[in-house]
Amino acid sequence: MKKRDCDLKKVNYDVIIVGGGPSGSTLASLIGGKVKTLLLDKAKFPRDKTCGDAVSGKTLSMLKELKLVSKIEKAKHKKIYGITFSSPNGTTTRIPIKKNILGKNYGYVCKRIIFDDILFKNASKKCDAIQNFTVTDLVWENGRVAGVKGILKGKEKTFKGKIIVGADGAQSIVAQKLKVNTNPPEHVCIAMRAYYKNVKGLTDDIEIHFVDELIPGYFWIFPAANGEANVGIGVVLSEVKKRNVDLKQVMFKILKENKLFKKRFENAVLTSEVKGWTLPFASYKRKIAGDSWILLGDAASLVDPFSGEGMGNGTLSARIAAPVVIEAIQKNNPAILKKYPQKLWQALGPEVDTSYKMQKLGRSKLLLNLVIGKVKKSEWVREQISNMLVESESKKNFTSPLFYLKLLLA
Ligand SMILES: Cc1cc2nc3c(=O)[nH]c(=O)nc-3n(C[C@H](O)[C@H](O)[C@H](O)COP(=O)(O)OP(=O)(O)OC[C@H]3O[C@@H](n4cnc5c(N)ncnc54)[C@H](O)[C@@H]3O)c2cc1C
Repeated sequence: MKKRDCDLKKVNYDVIIVGGGPSGSTLASLIGGKVKTLLLDKAKFPRDKTCGDAVSGKTLSMLKELKLVSKIEKAKHKKIYGITFSSPNGTTTRIPIKKNILGKNYGYVCKRIIFDDILFKNASKKCDAIQNFTVTDLVWENGRVAGVKGILKGKEKTFKGKIIVGADGAQSIVAQKLKVNTNPPEHVCIAMRAYYKNVKGLTDDIEIHFVDELIPGYFWIFPAANGEANVGIGVVLSEVKKRNVDLKQVMFKILKENKLFKKRFENAVLTSEVKGWTLPFASYKRKIAGDSWILLGDAASLVDPFSGEGMGNGTLSARIAAPVVIEAIQKNNPAILKKYPQKLWQALGPEVDTSYKMQKLGRSKLLLNLVIGKVKKSEWVREQISNMLVESESKKNFTSPLFYLKLLLA
């Protein structure tokens, strides 16, 4: 299917999606052929997005549904076969990746400049799409949201829609204008990311290091294509405020002074800017639907509060919203949009609660040292954690006292 040309004179749509990242592009791909859809993004693709670039199982199932796995396979990426962890006391261990939804025992690290371009291009074959369009405000009619205003090539333009979807990321203008955009600082993470080359000791694993000075938070090294590495740190905002630290300097200090990393980074060369961005956690439940609007992905604050993974929950929110949005348009009944938060929290609620509990448990250095030490020693513990990484049901064990009793005995 070819990219569709967007007729800029057309101003009325069934659905307007603001933001063509993974969440918005997934929704546009799923509803585009069925209801009259407009996808708007302020960027011109391909564009970068500050991210660790790790594609999880949930994101893979979206790729499978959209038949895009072969596109990722053909694009520049790095295959990942395991996760290496280290604890605050410096113990390092490894867990292999179990078979995923594609029947493969690997995942991907794929730069977002490539990954999002594939998703956006796919979406723009299914609906009208305009790039370089910055949404600046919502249009209200009779007390309801009825469209968006924005700037394209220096000129203001308005589009009308029966349903407006905010998929415009962590600093969502749609959520701001609806006054549902703020999270308490315990439910937001601040993260820094940079690309390096010449990092020693890269393997086929992503690396997550619970470094002493970052708890509750972590330092990551994710190997990327062509021998590069995506390197970053993430810490809960309330802790950053409490400690009054400059995260960029904290990251440089870890690379220079921490005994696990200083040798590995002695010849490393920074190949990008160090960029920071926020991750709004799903542990804070925002209002995500109204009588003519919904929010998806980061705009809906759906990032996993333990792993910091957001593409999986973002694309899941799009897949849950798609049939609801189509039904609301086809039955001309916006009240149907109420089903979206119900279905989303039914699917995601228990997993998010577990992840939030895990994040809180992860504040204990003692516990992290114990768990990672046991993973290193015991086959049984490795198997349990490996299951927990792929199945949300098994993840619940992480918060069960019985699991810790068994762990002590392992
Ligand atoms: C440092 C860091 C590391 C991370 N690592 C990972 C990881 O390894 N794996 C993972 O799954 N998740 C990770 N995340 C989270 C992940 O990046 C997000 O959860 C994910 O990008 C959310 O997708 P989205 O489509 O909801 O929003 P976004 O990807 O932010 O897309 C929003 C889109 O909206 C557009 N937009 C914004 N404002 C406007 C406007 N006013 N008008 C028009 N368009 C607009 C933007 O240009 C953008 O294209 C990380 C986040 C950070 C900050």
